[in-house]
Amino acid sequence: MSEFIKDGLARNFVAGQWVDGEDGHVIAVSDPGDNSHVADCARAGEKQLSQALDAAQASFERGDLADMNPQARAGLMHRIASEIRNIADEGAVVLCRESGKALSAARDEFEEAAQYFEYYGGVADKIEGKCIPLGPDYVDYASYEPFGVSAQIVPWNFPVSIAGRSLAPALAAGNSVIVKSPELDPIGLAMLGMALERAGVPEGAVSILNGVGPDIGAKLVESPQVNQIVFTGSVPTGQSILRAAAGPVTPCLMELGGKSAAVVFDDADLDVFISSLKSGIFYNAGQVCSAMARVLVHRSIYDQAVERAAELANGLRVGHGLEEPEHTPVISATQLTGIENMTSRAVAAGVRIAAGGMRMDRDGCFMAPTILADVDPNSPIAQDEIFGPVTCFTPFDTEAEAISMANGTEFGLVAGVFTRDLARAHRMARKLRAGQVFVNEWFAGGISTPFGGVGKSGFGREKGLEALYNYVRTKNVAISLKG
Ligand code: NAD
Repeated sequence: MSEFIKDGLARNFVAGQWVDGEDGHVIAVSDPGDNSHVADCARAGEKQLSQALDAAQASFERGDLADMNPQARAGLMHRIASEIRNIADEGAVVLCRESGKALSAARDEFEEAAQYFEYYGGVADKIEGKCIPLGPDYVDYASYEPFGVSAQIVPWNFPVSIAGRSLAPALAAGNSVIVKSPELDPIGLAMLGMALERAGVPEGAVSILNGVGPDIGAKLVESPQVNQIVFTGSVPTGQSILRAAAGPVTPCLMELGGKSAAVVFDDADLDVFISSLKSGIFYNAGQVCSAMARVLVHRSIYDQAVERAAELANGLRVGHGLEEPEHTPVISATQLTGIENMTSRAVAAGVRIAAGGMRMDRDGCFMAPTILADVDPNSPIAQDEIFGPVTCFTPFDTEAEAISMANGTEFGLVAGVFTRDLARAHRMARKLRAGQVFVNEWFAGGISTPFGGVGKSGFGREKGLEALYNYVRTKNVAISLKG
């Protein structure tokens, strides 16, 4: 058996083997909490990509998963879940360091990945088709079959849980998968290969490549050997992948960015809202696609809400992820500079800083928890994804105005309503243009609730039973009995 780590280098999982990168190239992975070096990762090139593609195609053609007894496939999924839990403690420390997130949040990623395998393991033998009545002269059935080779491109904000989110339904449905890990924090995700290996995943049914996006990521999605693309990441990368997919007409699932708004009415419980704000914009340093990036507050409670939000932001305990703080660094110095620049431009244009507003004076990539107030809903800071611990407060007067502002961006990932009025909550939920709506608790829901966007937030759904049907296609078989 080959090894995941060799000579201090984290390697690629290809066709059931751990392999080095192309010509000894590496990706240096650093810890944004203190700028220290975590490890080098073997950087996959064309050779490893081509091996992974051939192995995935061969595994699919052999029917390793697709023709496996569905109950055996379900059993495999449960073994993977259990092996993920076995590596979770070790994996969480690595993920905490390479991503900067809190250790408990890193541990939660492994747990969530395990839960995805259990959830989809539970339905691997229930992907049932249907019989369609055509009269006595025909028998007709429609059934679901896997696509073949599913190429999955993963972002750095939740590399392990997002990999689990897409990998588990794809395997449950019988596809082969090639995962391209994010270059900023690839090691925790690569460790999932150990769990897959120990659980006995057929050789080639899953490969995990640590490569650079515009290099092997782009080559992967262009490959004619790929039958489905699952992309989670930014809008510009998603658009470039869609252009690549247009040639061979490869089906895509797109989970892109957001600029989600919470609407806080005058009858809202402010304690409930503030506790949601804490996780909504400061969990994972705001690097969450469904972060509470905008807050629209009824004018009568606006000043009070801004003041309480600033108090929260100023009081967060800051530290390295291993210290289990409430506020952690962002992923890289580049990301930090981008967030700081967007914030400074907004301030120069007249936005008021209620808390934070700049990087913190400490080692590592720390942006101060930031509350911006009196933000023009049409300005760049209210329209563009910041992807950091910065949120924008704007007052509103009427329900109609709140809906128009909440829906007034190109995105539509999630939205939230804070009110004690049930009728208003339902009315708002119907009108908000988003794939998920939270009422009185940001991030309510879980692995079983369908998730995905409208507009530039993407298309297709992950999570829940519904996501399973993104990983299969329908085939109809009509049989004439006339002869
Ligand atoms: P990104 O688009 O820069 O990178 C995402 C992945 O794409 C990485 O693995 C990267 O290597 C790869 N990539 C880059 N260029 C590529 C190319 N030309 N071809 C193929 N692959 C390429 O995004 P990011 O900065 O890693 O992640 C942050 C973004 O992801 C944010 O916009 C966030 O909202 C979004 N996101 C969305 C969801 C969701 O479920 N909707 C979840 C998490 C993150």
